[in-house]
Amino acid sequence: SNVAAVSTAAVAVAALYRAATASKTLTELAPPRRGVEDLIGNTPVIKIKSLSKATGCEVYAKMELCNPGGSAKDRVALGIVRAAERQGLLRPGFPDVVFEGTSGSTGISIATICNALGYRAHISLPDDTSAEKLALLESLGAQINKVRPAGIVDPEQYVNAAQRACNQLNQSGDGSHRGVFADQFENDANWRVHYQGTGPEIYRQLDGRIDAFIAGCGTGGTIAGVARFLKEKLGGRLRVVLADPQGSGFYNRVKFGVMYDRVEQEGTRRRHQVDTIVEGIGLNRITHNFSQGEPYIDDAERVTDGQAVRMAKFLSVNDGLFIGSSTAINAVAAVKVAESLPPGSRIVIIACDSGSRHLSKFWKEALCVDNETTLREVLAGSQ
Ligand code: PMP
Repeated sequence: SNVAAVSTAAVAVAALYRAATASKTLTELAPPRRGVEDLIGNTPVIKIKSLSKATGCEVYAKMELCNPGGSAKDRVALGIVRAAERQGLLRPGFPDVVFEGTSGSTGISIATICNALGYRAHISLPDDTSAEKLALLESLGAQINKVRPAGIVDPEQYVNAAQRACNQLNQSGDGSHRGVFADQFENDANWRVHYQGTGPEIYRQLDGRIDAFIAGCGTGGTIAGVARFLKEKLGGRLRVVLADPQGSGFYNRVKFGVMYDRVEQEGTRRRHQVDTIVEGIGLNRITHNFSQGEPYIDDAERVTDGQAVRMAKFLSVNDGLFIGSSTAINAVAAVKVAESLPPGSRIVIIACDSGSRHLSKFWKEALCVDNETTLREVLAGSQ
């Protein structure tokens, strides 16, 4: 009968489809890698369905949280280590030491890469660094130097402490192991890894059809490298928007050309620190990596902590996307940017790290947000 013929054909088509997709999956699987260092980069891009539906734009996330060390900083750490090897500052096979001053993801990435490549990591950080980050660094076996919180002009400040510890090793050590200061804010290798990796990946993954790119700025390496690459490809068709947390100076710098430099004027860590629960982005001084990106930034959006915590819960509940605080800032900015773009425009944000690194601070507030919160309520979120 016709029914039997149709169902036989359907079974055959289904079998063919299974065979085709099965072999496709197999051929797509990569051969064994040399180690954890080879898992860095080539992160996926996903569509954020809830935000796309609500805005009428296509909103995508570059999933940097899929890197083995949990953030985009893996790329930076690897880039800095490889550059130091090329310069002869780190010697493969020797227990040389990478020094950095950081309370953030960079320390975790440096420790991860050093372990993978046979080096050691020495991380200076303020003694109020969050418990989960400290535990991660300890788990990775990094040497940890806790210093009291201090302003950047204070020699005791953790970045300055890291540089000093590095100099000490190089000047007074016996030469059996050398030190390198990673210096992520000023190191040229930072923005370059995003110019050579993150940017081209995003361009290819979206077939070059991108209308807006949104990222926050800590060192500025991400926005500098990605924006520069995408602008060179797309020119004025692309809008680059810096997403800034409350209390950070970048928004004013982009909008009005002035950045109130509280570091130099007041010199204390309290004043210099950006007053937000968001971690990893926002600053009140201009660094080399930000300067590299500044010519490619078209606009800025300021996002409050209230908007960010609501957005984080919203994406967790509606998309299964469990993100950290800086990603939430980018997502809020994406919705704001979508309002001024034609329907169907494509917006890409960086998903910097996952929520698991932010449980004790940011997510402590975010998990209290009602599951039924609407996007309108997310945007209305005050402090
Ligand atoms: N998000 C998180 C979680 C970070 O740790 C950082 C880096 N400090 C950023 C965003 C910002 O990246 P960049 O330093 O490249 O500006």
